[in-house]
Amino acid sequence: MELINNKYQFAGGIDPLELCKEYGTPLYVYDASVMERQYKRITGAFSYPKVHIHYACKALTNLSVMRLFRQWGAGLDCVSVQEVQLGLMAGYKPEDILYTPNFAGTDEYDEAVQLGVKINIDSIPMLENWGLHHKNVPIGIRINPHLMAGGNEKISVGHIDSKFGISIHQLPHVLRIVESQGLVIDGLHMHTGSDILDVDVFLRGADILFEAARKFPHLKYIDLGSGFKVPYKPDDIETDVEELGEKLSERFTTFCKEFGREVTLMFEPGKFLVSEAGYLFAKCTLVKQTTSTVFVGLNTGLNHLIRPMFYGSYHKIVNVTEPTFKPRIYNVVGNICETDTFAVDRRIPEVVEGDIIGFYNAGAYGWMMASNYNSRPRPAEVLLYQGKAHLIRKRETLEDMVRNQVQVAL
Ligand SMILES: *Cc1c(COP(=O)(O)O)cnc(C)c1O
Repeated sequence: MELINNKYQFAGGIDPLELCKEYGTPLYVYDASVMERQYKRITGAFSYPKVHIHYACKALTNLSVMRLFRQWGAGLDCVSVQEVQLGLMAGYKPEDILYTPNFAGTDEYDEAVQLGVKINIDSIPMLENWGLHHKNVPIGIRINPHLMAGGNEKISVGHIDSKFGISIHQLPHVLRIVESQGLVIDGLHMHTGSDILDVDVFLRGADILFEAARKFPHLKYIDLGSGFKVPYKPDDIETDVEELGEKLSERFTTFCKEFGREVTLMFEPGKFLVSEAGYLFAKCTLVKQTTSTVFVGLNTGLNHLIRPMFYGSYHKIVNVTEPTFKPRIYNVVGNICETDTFAVDRRIPEVVEGDIIGFYNAGAYGWMMASNYNSRPRPAEVLLYQGKAHLIRKRETLEDMVRNQVQVAL
């Protein structure tokens, strides 16, 4: 969404204020052209021919969005059996779906085997168990290479005490299990967290997996996960995927020569593909002045966009209705009965009641982390595709929220 002639517009001249009028607020809007641009950026960055991108659909698990990525040629990365089922509904072939859960029960793995998807195992006990029931089903192993990476504690999953993956130091143990049980390991996987800025972190991770790969003769893929950082603030730097593609293609080609075979190189980006494509629009319900602060209150809150409160993440905020008014300094807050602060001391063109406020970078982990807290319905979702707006999820209703409640005579 850009400011053109003092009006915010989407590609093709779509007016966000019209969308808010038609579909109501709060409203999530996704621009498919940005998703496509990001997908092409990452696929275009590699000269190595066998690169496959799996969309980590937990970032934005809407069937229409999943379908678009399938059309563009992506596979899917799923962290639950339900995501797998949604992927199948969206038309993905089982072999194009990766199932990489954490602390999933054996029943979930059994279901994944039934559904015929690719499975990554991330614990020794599960690996020991595999031989008993699914000896002939090839699996990938999620390795924790212990790279300190990621924007903060909550999203960094590669450090030594992380709950994710099997430690690279336990490789000898893994090999004993694999050999004694006759398991077929066809993939090695790592995912070291979100918001990795440094290309070197990926390269170091790749080197660790290349080294481990020598021990697995059946290997078909090496999956370097995700963690691509996208810009949130105007002057933010992002992961240089072009540099990564160039350096990694070179190293990977060398590795494959030594290994004796072309192995598929995989990535599973979520945020990189959808974050910048998404916006949350909300209405200002009230501007309230206290002794020290001017609050802009919105008809949304941590129930709809929890990232600022949960991760302390920054989202660019604009006044869509009045982009040209003189900026004032505000705290932007939600309407939830908690301190749900979106931004502190933020300069935004003067806001009055009824103005539409827009949040950038709301495509990833926005709607998906929304809840019904305070019994407010979750927002509708609109997808902009080839110059047209499509409603891809209706706003929830009171009925939706009580659907599974059982009213008993007490
Ligand atoms: C969450 C997750 C991803 C996607 O992470 P992003 O930071 O959104 O790109 C990829 N792989 C696995 C296994 C994940 O759990």
